[in-house]
Amino acid sequence: MNPVTRKDDADYIVENVKEHTDYFRDSLAMIASENIISPMAREMMVSDFCDRYAEGLPGARYYQGNEFVDKVEVHATQLAKELFQVPYADTRPISGTVANLGVLFALTKPTDVITVPNVSDGAHISTARFGAVGVRGLEPVPYPFDVENMNIDVDGAIKVIKEVKPKLALFGMSVYLFPSPITEMIDALREVDAMVWYDAAHVLGLIAGKHFQDPFREGVDVMTGSTHKTLPGPQHGIILADPKTERMSEEKFLRKLNYGVFPGVLSNHHLHTMASLGISLAEHLEYGEEYAGQIIRNAQALGQAMHERGFNVLCEHLGFTESHTIAVDVKEHGGGTPLVEALESANIVTNKNLLPWDPTDAAMNPSGIRLGAQELTRIGMKESEMDAVAELFKRICIDKEDPDSVRPDVVELKSGFQDIHYCFGGGKAYKYHRIVE
Ligand SMILES: *Cc1c(COP(=O)(O)O)cnc(C)c1O
Repeated sequence: MNPVTRKDDADYIVENVKEHTDYFRDSLAMIASENIISPMAREMMVSDFCDRYAEGLPGARYYQGNEFVDKVEVHATQLAKELFQVPYADTRPISGTVANLGVLFALTKPTDVITVPNVSDGAHISTARFGAVGVRGLEPVPYPFDVENMNIDVDGAIKVIKEVKPKLALFGMSVYLFPSPITEMIDALREVDAMVWYDAAHVLGLIAGKHFQDPFREGVDVMTGSTHKTLPGPQHGIILADPKTERMSEEKFLRKLNYGVFPGVLSNHHLHTMASLGISLAEHLEYGEEYAGQIIRNAQALGQAMHERGFNVLCEHLGFTESHTIAVDVKEHGGGTPLVEALESANIVTNKNLLPWDPTDAAMNPSGIRLGAQELTRIGMKESEMDAVAELFKRICIDKEDPDSVRPDVVELKSGFQDIHYCFGGGKAYKYHRIVE
């Protein structure tokens, strides 16, 4: 393209966003960390809230003009407390990573020891030495991992906890098939006076829908999350707390959390996404249980259907998954990289993933692919569609059929699933809103 005017430059950007939207309209979106927001939640994103500042807390702002922002924030916070049944919620963090940084800023100081799941076992970069944990100057000590069961090795982890006596113990992963063994470890954690933190980024909507573990009732002090993965909200973050630690009073714990977020790691907190989150929380209170249950049934059905077609889906002996995610070892079919590229050409969007036994230098072509069922569920797909999806995967990955010849069948399947479910009012999922011509 050779732009003649600056308006052409702008139109070029619009045109690409529109084409992107059309691609996703015709595609199966299966990245485990994504979802689509409801039309009502999307409407909040283009409101005047996207132009404003509101630093601090409702009723105690540093700027004027926040009368209605305050009402929205108070209400969204109330909805979050209700959804997770906790006394404290903060709807200001602008992403899951920022929520994590806020907790680290609040509860730790440099050189403190934190126990963490390992990145190579499926943890998130924000909890690694080269991510937020390192930015805070902490000493991360990983839990041993049981690759057979794709979960923390409880006995090994208890040994580590008793030995290093962490100030903070973190749970939660990005390749997250099964609940973390918190109930099994909570006595050991309390014995060494560790504060317990659960990063629920991936499974926030499953927890809120009462179909995963219940971290707060299992003894967790604080939980963070992204609000756009299994919770089908805007790209934003959240902190929830119900402290039980004896390290400090509840009041002090919550004061530190609040201060950790602002002024700790935020100034303005993206009011349009916060308002949008308020809508998503209300929708999840209404539909979350039904939605979360169907997500997990779909993920298990996808695992079963792919297994039956010759894929090495991890953890068959455990029913493949108890979350929205399955992990597939595709080494024998050429490895993750060529497969995710072929899938993309056929309009199936996935990501390659390192598996725990991959050497660290395998990042360019890891053995695994990670698949999430939450977005396909959101547009109304059920178990029988998971079977159809597995067949498409087989044609591309195992039969090595040309992606160009599979694509029409992907588009055909997708054409029957264009509406968003589990939200108020329903509506088209992939509508492009042109405001300026
Ligand atoms: C996705 C994720 C995050 C945060 O992601 P953001 O993109 O910053 O919202 C944090 N922790 C885990 C385990 C994640 O999977």
